Amino acid sequence: MLRTYPLREADLLVTLLTRLEGKVHGVARSAKKSKRRFGGALEPMTVVRAFYDVRERHELARLDACEVLESPLASEISYARAVALGHIAELLDELLPDHEANDAIFRLTVSVLHALEQAKTGADLWMPITYFDLWLTRLVGFLPNLTECIVCGRALNGSRAYFHALADGLMCTDDKRLASSEISSESRSLAAQMFRAPVENFAEASNRCPPGEGAGNSREARARAQASDLRKFLVQTLQRHIEKKLVTATMLEKITTV
Ligand SMILES: [Zn+2]
Repeated sequence: MLRTYPLREADLLVTLLTRLEGKVHGVARSAKKSKRRFGGALEPMTVVRAFYDVRERHELARLDACEVLESPLASEISYARAVALGHIAELLDELLPDHEANDAIFRLTVSVLHALEQAKTGADLWMPITYFDLWLTRLVGFLPNLTECIVCGRALNGSRAYFHALADGLMCTDDKRLASSEISSESRSLAAQMFRAPVENFAEASNRCPPGEGAGNSREARARAQASDLRKFLVQTLQRHIEKKLVTATMLEKITTV
């Protein structure tokens, strides 16, 4: 369940990410009147078994029933966790086309939801979010090669690398544009590790201090600082492709201590 919007007095418009048919929009009749009918199933980012009917010449499916398989409400929802869930819902809703199944993205989403649910503190949310942003960017085909300069093609391994909101990949020191941001080699090697391992391997926030950032700060601040340059690069890449700002990216930036 990605999102719901009010529609007429009693109905809700729902957006589902389904395993078999991709993104599906439908109507949950009387969902606002009768809470019992759908229970907590309409809560965004709930994993459900959905029974719906797609009618010919109708754009909207009719959602008949939902069985909750996994609910984000099973564990305590902090503000930070709610924003993280909202971020995932927003990205899927904005980036995926309707009615196009993508099993890899479906499985990625379910595994990251697990990781977010198991996060003990706000600090543990950042790595699953980073993992999701990185893999989704790659799976929708927007991720450039992170190991070479897009201008001259030189390998960036071991050297400094930069990105810019209007450029499509990373650039070396000689080719970086004015007002570029730097992406650390730690973040680039983390990305490489994330491509080789499941999200569970990154569940715990690192206790290492990223150089120059968060030094002497709380575990939360350090966790937030880790790979923040990578997340910024990914969000800029996605925003450039969808040609709009991601609401939850700004909300995530504003989460400080939890
Ligand atoms: Zn270059």
